[in-house]
Amino acid sequence: MKTPRGAAPEPGRPIDFVRNARLALGDPFLRAALRATMVRFRDRQAAVIAEVPEWQALRDYACAVKRHTLGRLDQYLEQLEAQVALRGGHVHWARDGAEAAGIIARLARGRRVVKSKSMTSEEIGLNEALASAGCEVTETDLGEYLLQLAGEAPSHLIAPIVHRSKEFIAALLSAAAGRPLPAEPERLTAVARELLRRRFLEAEVGITGANFLVAETGTVVLVENEGNIRLTTTIPRVHIALAGVEKVIPRLADLAVFLTLLPRAATGQRMSSYVSLLTGPRRSGERDGPEEFHLVLVDNGRTAVHGDETMREVLACIRCGACLDVCPVFERVGGHAYGSVYSGPIGAVLTPLLQGLTVAGDLPFASSLCGACGEVCPVKIDLPRLLLELRARVVRSRGAPLGERLFLRAWTWVMGSAVRLTLAGSLVRLARGLVGPRPRWLPAPLSRWIAFRDLPPAAPAAFRRGRRR
Ligand code: SF4
Repeated sequence: MKTPRGAAPEPGRPIDFVRNARLALGDPFLRAALRATMVRFRDRQAAVIAEVPEWQALRDYACAVKRHTLGRLDQYLEQLEAQVALRGGHVHWARDGAEAAGIIARLARGRRVVKSKSMTSEEIGLNEALASAGCEVTETDLGEYLLQLAGEAPSHLIAPIVHRSKEFIAALLSAAAGRPLPAEPERLTAVARELLRRRFLEAEVGITGANFLVAETGTVVLVENEGNIRLTTTIPRVHIALAGVEKVIPRLADLAVFLTLLPRAATGQRMSSYVSLLTGPRRSGERDGPEEFHLVLVDNGRTAVHGDETMREVLACIRCGACLDVCPVFERVGGHAYGSVYSGPIGAVLTPLLQGLTVAGDLPFASSLCGACGEVCPVKIDLPRLLLELRARVVRSRGAPLGERLFLRAWTWVMGSAVRLTLAGSLVRLARGLVGPRPRWLPAPLSRWIAFRDLPPAAPAAFRRGRRR
């Protein structure tokens, strides 16, 4: 897994969110790009969601389907496996990321691979395993392709290269194409398409993720805008789909609701440009599709999350990215600060659950708890509640910082007596009057407050005194 600007941390090393956030805050381009993109996404999302009067009812329905499925996960996974096998596909089960990467590397060994649409493959470090197995791998989603050329990790679920300028992208593609290219998005897109076309034609194996897996029919559902998934799944002789076990939904009929919610919540589109429903390998008489189809179902910590009834609902996530777009913390620091494939509010919940509190215990605190993420989530995951629960677990496991404990003890002491409270109020009013709104120095942690903000004015008199009058 890669962190800010693509450096790989040692496995199991704690994610230092504060350090990463500080780095991100020092990058003016990143902050401007994030703000512009998030505002654009939010405006588009609000406009297209307003067109659907039954939006809340659809959220309720999707939430109910996901909760129902998670309640019978083993049953639906068995049904899915049977249906894929019935249609000539192969299902592989992987306990963890290494096992899943090993299975795929064995299937693809030494061949040319095109890849598309898979956060899960980032999660399990698939590209590294494929490279060790002698495969030549090309990412084919435009953003992911550019990131591969740059050797960086995605910084947003839907807009993975939002942190880079068009000049940077022009330099990347100029090096790949072997000729200087202007920083014009249309020209650059055309050149990337040209470079990728050759890769598609040469590919022997196509690897994708899955937005949904339909248990009833054994269908892999993929939603996209660029058309590259169509090429990834039809040109190569072998198609391998990699998915977390939580991606299963019961029936094809449920898909209509998810296909209404996903593009609106994700990119503010009424519908995606392409939706592919892939059911098994090519059958006799069919003109396209792969000769071999493999579905790799990976656990990688999901069963433990499923067994945790308080946190289980996080597995309902459909990776739309809407919670990132409204998060004031994400908007300022971007995805790399979270040190994980999954960033923003969903990452702050999912990463600690999948990687443990020792590695990712900082992340649940990377939130203002404003509640916006829970409001927009199309499958109604109560992210603020889950963040609070994880914070409590972190404090239980490693204790609160000494400063916080001392502060809370002092606070309790002051609040325990009306005389002390009145005295403290008078002292605060006096101190605020003496130092003014922009004092030059204050002791920590107040010094951190005044580095970015003015001190708020103190109330002229205690509330209780007003009440008495
Ligand atoms: S938690 Fe909800 S809003 Fe966030 S990515 Fe998942 S489905 Fe989308």
